[in-house]
Amino acid sequence: MARVFDISPLKINGQTVPMAVRVDARAKRLILRMDNHGKLTVTCPGDRYVDAAIQMARSRTGWIADRLAELPEPAHLRPGVAVPVLGKERMITFSPSIQTGVVTPDSVSVPAAVDNVGDVVVSTLAKELKRYCRNCADHWQDSLGVQYSRVRVRDMKTRWGSCTARGDLTFNTRLVFAPPQVLDYVILHEMCHLRFLDHSPEFWSLVENHCQDYLVQEAWLKSEGRSLFRYGAVGDVSLPPKRTSVTELPPPG
Ligand SMILES: [Zn+2]
Repeated sequence: MARVFDISPLKINGQTVPMAVRVDARAKRLILRMDNHGKLTVTCPGDRYVDAAIQMARSRTGWIADRLAELPEPAHLRPGVAVPVLGKERMITFSPSIQTGVVTPDSVSVPAAVDNVGDVVVSTLAKELKRYCRNCADHWQDSLGVQYSRVRVRDMKTRWGSCTARGDLTFNTRLVFAPPQVLDYVILHEMCHLRFLDHSPEFWSLVENHCQDYLVQEAWLKSEGRSLFRYGAVGDVSLPPKRTSVTELPPPG
């Protein structure tokens, strides 16, 4: 089992970069990663490689500076901020007349009396996404001749969606900020898994039959997907995907 511990942060161009070491016997080499928070993790195969791993990480200042420059600007979910929700910019607003958060055609309204606004916005958006995914899944059920058992949305770290053999579909809450054609593709992708629980040529041809430009959506997720992680509650741009930037080096000597 892997063991992770924090070490003292690096200073790169005056910026403090938090850092952790991960010791994992299955690692074949030293691996340096940065997540969307800008936290570095260096992985090594055993305790005796820890010093070498830290040294390697410290020597990669150019790579680290490049990754820092690429980090998405965090956008806090609070009143006055406009966010793309299911393909439409909507302003987060306080509304004194409502009890629970609600998504309208041009706003995400939250009750004025809450003090955890960000969390309320997050849960309101999750509910809206779930509703959207369920409608879309209902539609595909008929045209694909499949049946799902339930739809869930969760803030997942490494996946956009998943489908179990029992027909449980799970979608990443971050998709609420994605262009609708990307979201629609992810839903279709998971629905097609109800027919083929693999990535066989049969699976992909079923996907392509119903979404001719699925490669465009896949490409968007690869190149732009990380930008969906910039939105977060105040003080928390939550749950970035773990393996955003990876550099692999030769095995330690
Ligand atoms: Zn898949």
